[in-house]
Amino acid sequence: MQNDTNTPNHSRRRFLQHSLIGTAGLGLGIASTSQVRAEPLPNAGDPEIDETYDVVVFGGGTAGIIAALQAGRAGASVLIVERGAQLGGTMTTGGVSFPGLFDAWGQQVIAGIGWDLVKECVEIDGGNFPDFSRVPQRHWHNQIYLNPYLYAILAEEKCAEAGVKIAYHEFPLSAAASPDGGWAVTCVGFGTMRRIHCKQIIDCTGGAEVVGMLGFERMREEETQPGSMYYSLNSPMDAGRDNVSRLYVHGADSSNSRSVAHANITGRKAVLDLVRRHKARLMHLQQETGFRESYRIVGETIITVNDYRNGRKFDDAICNAFYPVDLHTRRGVRPEPLPRGTVSTVPFRALIPKNSRDLMVAGRSVSSDRLANSGLRVQAPCMAMGQAAGAAATLAVQKGTTPLEVPLNEIHALLREHNAIIPGDA
Ligand SMILES: Cc1cc2nc3c(=O)[nH]c(=O)nc-3n(C[C@H](O)[C@H](O)[C@H](O)COP(=O)(O)OP(=O)(O)OC[C@H]3O[C@@H](n4cnc5c(N)ncnc54)[C@H](O)[C@@H]3O)c2cc1C
Repeated sequence: MQNDTNTPNHSRRRFLQHSLIGTAGLGLGIASTSQVRAEPLPNAGDPEIDETYDVVVFGGGTAGIIAALQAGRAGASVLIVERGAQLGGTMTTGGVSFPGLFDAWGQQVIAGIGWDLVKECVEIDGGNFPDFSRVPQRHWHNQIYLNPYLYAILAEEKCAEAGVKIAYHEFPLSAAASPDGGWAVTCVGFGTMRRIHCKQIIDCTGGAEVVGMLGFERMREEETQPGSMYYSLNSPMDAGRDNVSRLYVHGADSSNSRSVAHANITGRKAVLDLVRRHKARLMHLQQETGFRESYRIVGETIITVNDYRNGRKFDDAICNAFYPVDLHTRRGVRPEPLPRGTVSTVPFRALIPKNSRDLMVAGRSVSSDRLANSGLRVQAPCMAMGQAAGAAATLAVQKGTTPLEVPLNEIHALLREHNAIIPGDA
């Protein structure tokens, strides 16, 4: 039998033990791994749980985080259901960590909870802000480089402070109107079935997935705009400072798990081809493709590209929006800037699926035609829509009514209390 004291591993272990004891004996510092203990979860082993909330936000991405924070800060009990492993959606998991546009024509036109979070993230990260008082030559010059890792963690911290709970790795399996009012939703994740009763739903899944599940009308194009896979060859990603490379994934469609997986595998295979062709080192690869479009709701109002281009001031406007019309096709993109001085607005009724109650969307699934959506879908307006939906949902809970029946001036007042800019304010 072999004496294992002579095996290389054993000798190495003894050497390390002696070295550590030696340095400790001499009073020298030993580099150690930082440690943290996860507190035991109550009922962690239960495969099924039942919970009640005022507001449930589906999708913890660009719009969903802000919707949940607004509702939580205004006093609602809130749950975010997020299929992924972190907050931020397209901004973090999708790699599009350069939000725009908070300003137009020399002044800030979108602020509020989203802006506060972006600002804190950039400040902690020692990053830079564009000068909003200057009109840039190209619209993207005023986008903000954000550290996506930091943003995702900060968002979690803000949720904890606002009492917002997060259910990661879960998604809705079924949803229906509850006989006693509100909604009954069953969510699943591995090892978990969560039955939820809530008064208000805000669907921030990007593709209005819960709205579709509840049977309300949605629209989509036959062929979606290409998605983009972010990667870097031969140099690491400088988070919060610079862009990495991207490749178009044509046909990328975020409608369901099969289409998402198909786009991701297609994108990753193309990156592998690049690595081989250029004999390069792969030093950054995003976990998921960034998806530009899937379903949009048919809302109480549909924003048309003429409304958007002409900067229509809707009577029920809840936020500004500013970005070129920006449709990506097989041939690329040719952004069409808005006419000088034009700032568009988002009407509250475009967040409400037609003929629904106690249900809203926020983010890129806003009720709009394709070209209007190509400008409205950028991150600052998505955040502002999220904040508006969070405010309206909370006021509806407090008044025992549906968001459309909450007086608009009360929604505006709550939004202003939380630093938002209402069209007309700027
Ligand atoms: C390649 C690309 C480049 C872009 N460039 C810019 C740019 O330069 N500047 C800019 O401001 N914007 C840009 N955009 C647009 C912008 O990033 C997105 O439109 C915006 O982030 C969408 O926000 P959202 O909240 O609607 O969706 P997301 O941020 O995608 O959030 C949706 C969330 O819902 C979750 N989810 C989905 N389905 C379910 C489910 N069934 N259950 C639970 N959770 C679910 C997802 O995991 C995700 O976290 C770009 C987009 C892409 C794809």
